[in-house]
Amino acid sequence: VRPPAPEYRTATGGRPGAPSGGSPAASAARPGGGLYAPKPPPRQTSAPRAHPPPPAPTPPSPPSQRSSPTVSRPTPPAAPVDDAVPPPPPPRAPDRSPVALRDVLLQKAIVLQSYTPGQHRIVCPSCGGGSNGERSLAVHIEADGREAQWMCHRATCEWTGGSSVADAKSNSRRTQSESAMGSNTSVGTGMSSRRPGAGAGGAVKLPPPESLERVGPGETTPAAKKWGAWLESRGIDLSVAERNGLASQNVFSPPAGAHVDALVFPYMRDGELVNIKYRGEDKSFWQVKGAEKILFGLDDIAGAREIVIVEGEMDKLALEQAGVKNVVSVPDGAPGKVKDGPVPAPEEDRKFEYLWNCRAALDPVSRVVIAADADAPGQALAEELARRLGKERCFRVHWPEGCKDANDVLLKEGEAALRGAIDNAEGFPLRGLFRFSDFEDDISNYFGVEESSEMKGVSTGWKSIDNHYRVVPGELTVITGVPNSGKSEWVDALMCNLAVQHGWTFALCSMENKVHEHARKLVEKYTGEPWFEGKYTKKARMRPETMRQGLHWLDNQFVLIRHEDDELPSVDWIIGLARAAVMRHGIRGLLIDPYNELDHKRPQGQTETEYVSQMLTRIKKFAQHYDVHVWFVAHPRQLHNWRGEAPGLYDISGSAHFINKCDNGIVVHRNRDEKTGSLREVTVMVAKVRNKVAGSIGDPKLEYNLSNGRYEDIQ
Ligand SMILES: [Zn+2]
Repeated sequence: VRPPAPEYRTATGGRPGAPSGGSPAASAARPGGGLYAPKPPPRQTSAPRAHPPPPAPTPPSPPSQRSSPTVSRPTPPAAPVDDAVPPPPPPRAPDRSPVALRDVLLQKAIVLQSYTPGQHRIVCPSCGGGSNGERSLAVHIEADGREAQWMCHRATCEWTGGSSVADAKSNSRRTQSESAMGSNTSVGTGMSSRRPGAGAGGAVKLPPPESLERVGPGETTPAAKKWGAWLESRGIDLSVAERNGLASQNVFSPPAGAHVDALVFPYMRDGELVNIKYRGEDKSFWQVKGAEKILFGLDDIAGAREIVIVEGEMDKLALEQAGVKNVVSVPDGAPGKVKDGPVPAPEEDRKFEYLWNCRAALDPVSRVVIAADADAPGQALAEELARRLGKERCFRVHWPEGCKDANDVLLKEGEAALRGAIDNAEGFPLRGLFRFSDFEDDISNYFGVEESSEMKGVSTGWKSIDNHYRVVPGELTVITGVPNSGKSEWVDALMCNLAVQHGWTFALCSMENKVHEHARKLVEKYTGEPWFEGKYTKKARMRPETMRQGLHWLDNQFVLIRHEDDELPSVDWIIGLARAAVMRHGIRGLLIDPYNELDHKRPQGQTETEYVSQMLTRIKKFAQHYDVHVWFVAHPRQLHNWRGEAPGLYDISGSAHFINKCDNGIVVHRNRDEKTGSLREVTVMVAKVRNKVAGSIGDPKLEYNLSNGRYEDIQ
């Protein structure tokens, strides 16, 4: 004698008619408990037709909301609604999913970003939020996610109201009983109560319970026993299998082209069978043709505020084995990869239509843990789900090393590890929103700053300067000084030191230097010998071999960015070439000298302040992205009644943004008064230092060597 078959109700209500297979005796004795246990008679299955209630006055058609493909907004109130003109059939299976609060609110033209319990604010559809399009409508969703009240705070509008899923249901029930039996077509927004699906049209063939052989503890058929043993080999208890309604069925397998004993995963909603996923012995899968796509285990998340979504039915069973029951599985596994572009409108989102079909259950959930497989398709699935469910409420699970999915973790690491992985799910990264721990490396690096740390920068080659300014990759230093103060020459000397001591290479965009002049200054500093004889000193000029050696060294350490046209170069042009120089020559430094020689055409309506701010932002981004230190030389504006004193950073033409945006601000100043000291004395005023690890403000002094252009620490 065959063991008793499980019992279930189909969506049409009641048990299916005559058994099409299996023993007729089977229906006589039904086991107690389990998903297939007898349930009270189903509600609302008498009429297959529902009409939406009349829509709110002048509802705008929300573009992203799903509506009937042929009716772009709720049908106008043509009372009494009847079937005189049946709407044309939609191109897809009619919406049989339960009413969600979003469906109810859509009838009032209220469309929210999310439908989680709590307060939401939107532009009022009744008054449009006035001329400013104010978000004047406050919508409060109750804790159960099934009821909402709203109020517009604009005095000229003050639209208030409330609606609930329960109201809508009784409403649609009334409409149903009033309307004649007829077309099975969905109208409007899917604002229908459950309907007997495509089954009414005879398209979906769900098996009668008699054809299903229970998989669970105790006496079962040989086929069911075999599947039971397989489940146990995957770490799933038979009691868990039974609670989830698993069964064996001898059924035609499209992949195999023959009848096989397949494992049955019943997709239930409110205790009704909606779809079946079959698993063949050869690891093939198929589903009931034309059946509505929903999540597996949907009834286990009814009313839940926190849920887990997994990639397969076996993962759901594994989590239940570990004590986590508020779990659903997607019906179709993972997509190949994340699709580009925006999320399609629900009516075109066929691959994820199960989310839409389960919106009544998913909308009120405040925490969604996505526990997809630890492979590329699994990560793509996680991303696609989060995009649709709203990343702000989605969390992602990281499986232990070497584990692929929940079932894998259960087998290899055990129940506690599986629970732990779910508990430790991490929030989905939101673009632009961070926690301090996202910068952990940076921060601990900062805590453990050592002499060698990059944050501390590299030595300038001068002891007195190092106390105040060190060269940190990724920073921007603005340098100013009156004409002939030697500001450009000091940067040249600094770059030579960095090249010799640290092997740095540089791109030079030096617009006031002729190339041969610049070569002379750099080679003199490198060799320590004068290019010409007798100009400032009696020292003999460098020999031709020395010059050639110097030139060879220059060639290795510097590249030139030069604008050959008559027009002035733009900052973006320089940054573009500097990027190439990073790739090709590995430059660590970029000199732009001076700011005043750049093309400063700015868009109409942009102030100089805005222009300078945006330009410096682009330079800083380049510096940070490529870890290049940028020196930006700027002349001060014309100083009136100047008596030889040093200018300040605020004297740079083009606003205070030079000081606000730069990491370091330096004023180079040369003494021009013999009475106050040596004429060779140069003050390197470090007027701003953002990075306190690298330096501090101060006025260190250097001595200029007339014969070779070097700067030296004052002994
Ligand atoms: Zn209003």
